[in-house]
Amino acid sequence: MNKIYLCAISNILSGSCKEDCSFCTQSSKYKTDIQRYNFKDIKTVVEEAKLARKSKAIGFCLVTSGLGLDEKRKSYMIEALYELNFHDIGLNYIGCNGIAKYEDLCKLKDAGLGSYNHNLETSQNYYKTICTTHDWKSRFDTCLAVKKAGLKLCSGGIFGMGESRDDRDDFIASLRELEPDSVAINFFVPNLALPLKKNTISKTEAKEIVLNIKESLPNSRIMVAGGREQMFENLGEVFESGANSIVIGDYLTTKGEKKDKDINAIEALGLKIAKSCDG
Ligand code: SF4
Repeated sequence: MNKIYLCAISNILSGSCKEDCSFCTQSSKYKTDIQRYNFKDIKTVVEEAKLARKSKAIGFCLVTSGLGLDEKRKSYMIEALYELNFHDIGLNYIGCNGIAKYEDLCKLKDAGLGSYNHNLETSQNYYKTICTTHDWKSRFDTCLAVKKAGLKLCSGGIFGMGESRDDRDDFIASLRELEPDSVAINFFVPNLALPLKKNTISKTEAKEIVLNIKESLPNSRIMVAGGREQMFENLGEVFESGANSIVIGDYLTTKGEKKDKDINAIEALGLKIAKSCDG
């Protein structure tokens, strides 16, 4: 393994989503105990980005809850991107703003966006079980539009939501069609307020999934994101399974490991942390 890539997340608009994704604490259909707020002040986002860079992140993901990139989200993103790039912090900016059109993605790219994250979440067939308010195809089409717009694509999903092995195989086959630059692998973290009550995979299966994805997508960066702390004993296990990227700091609505602890653990393993997105 050459280098480890670190990515940080900023939840810039949290909760109150009208969709019913049964794994998501940000859906307004479920009474989850999360923080809810409207667009975060851009000055705060700039400070968070500076802190992320100090913590050796090279990617900084700006996430909005909600179905997709509407006019309000697009305007906010463009303003935030101009401000972030003005400060020349040295990060690759990633948009994660839901279903999006090619034309709007081009506008974000013109404003300085480098990548767009949009997860397929699971197989096309199983998606109907976990979400009834929008379809999987709109997710796949958004990923295609990301590539067409010339942005780097980060796509992946969540394992342990009750999907079968066939669903996982179908899901990974769809990711192969997309060939994302980066694959984000999450493991379901249960919350009693959600319809999905438990994570249905074992720790051994989690390692097998990462390895399978690494082998299926040899040219993609493999990121283990949410659920890492629950499914892996330590970072050595994560990287031995084939991942070369992690989220540093907190996730959208759940706590992550302390940043210093992760950085020290990576260095103790004798691994180098990437200084830029390209290496
Ligand atoms: S659309 Fe996004 S924010 Fe809304 S419930 Fe689904 S995953 Fe959560």
